[in-house]
Amino acid sequence: MLPVVNAAVVWLALLAADGGAPGAPGASKPKQGLVAKRWQAQRSPTAGPALSIGGTSLGCLQGAATLPASGPGYEALRLGRNRRFGHPLLVAYIERLAAAAKAAKLGPIVVGDLSLPRGGPTPTGHRSHQTGLDADIGYVAPPGLRAGRLSAVARERLGPLPVADPKTHVATPAFSPKVRALLALAAGDPAVDRIFVEPGIKKLLCEAPETAKAPWQARLRPWWAHHDHFHVRLRCPPDSPLCVPQEPPPDDGCGATLAWWFSADAEATRTKKKQAETAEAEPELPPACSAVLEAKGAVLEAQR
Ligand SMILES: [Zn+2]
Repeated sequence: MLPVVNAAVVWLALLAADGGAPGAPGASKPKQGLVAKRWQAQRSPTAGPALSIGGTSLGCLQGAATLPASGPGYEALRLGRNRRFGHPLLVAYIERLAAAAKAAKLGPIVVGDLSLPRGGPTPTGHRSHQTGLDADIGYVAPPGLRAGRLSAVARERLGPLPVADPKTHVATPAFSPKVRALLALAAGDPAVDRIFVEPGIKKLLCEAPETAKAPWQARLRPWWAHHDHFHVRLRCPPDSPLCVPQEPPPDDGCGATLAWWFSADAEATRTKKKQAETAEAEPELPPACSAVLEAKGAVLEAQR
């Protein structure tokens, strides 16, 4: 077991290094800074109706719902980042997962970033999470977390436990059948498009007889920097015509697809991706996002 303070440092480091390629969770880059700061400066959502606009790595969100800081089976962390906004379907998904995890005695779960109040790019952290359809959820809550009794300071400092080593992909003692059960619940929900997990965790799920042939196996996709949280991405909501869907996963993510993640080429690719991102020009958001950025804020419901 890692001391709590180490877990918090890991979670922060991970928030700073989440991902890479288009359509996957991705690290932001300095050139996006100015645009992202304008999105971050908007402290409240726009009025509805709720609309996810564009793609998760280049889009925005109208009419966001707020995830309450605490609810049955979950606690939201890092409220100071102001990223607990999502399409109402995402907030409903988290509440549904938390309730199911609680009923199965797997909880409490801890929730990290969703989106900024209007989605859009963030100056730090991810490239995705722009349309209110992405959420970071811990595999294992920090030890000692008492649901419903979390101080404001603890909420900012605590982080979930790593379940694998990000370099060797070997599971830590924090991995248990409960983590497998939580991922099965999370991925089994039909609202889910895909979930990014640590390659070592994906391997364990591909190998375990209970989960190897699970109908949701294809939704779990290996990705870098997901050793202490998994990243849920929902499908485009049916009432968001400007939402750009991702290609469906090409396979179950086991076999050759998974083997690549343990190769030297995977590490080299990660480095190349990071270099390419810093060299890229700043991409244009969909035109509909200008109105979202400039709209007057909705009156926020009392923060629960
Ligand atoms: Zn994420």
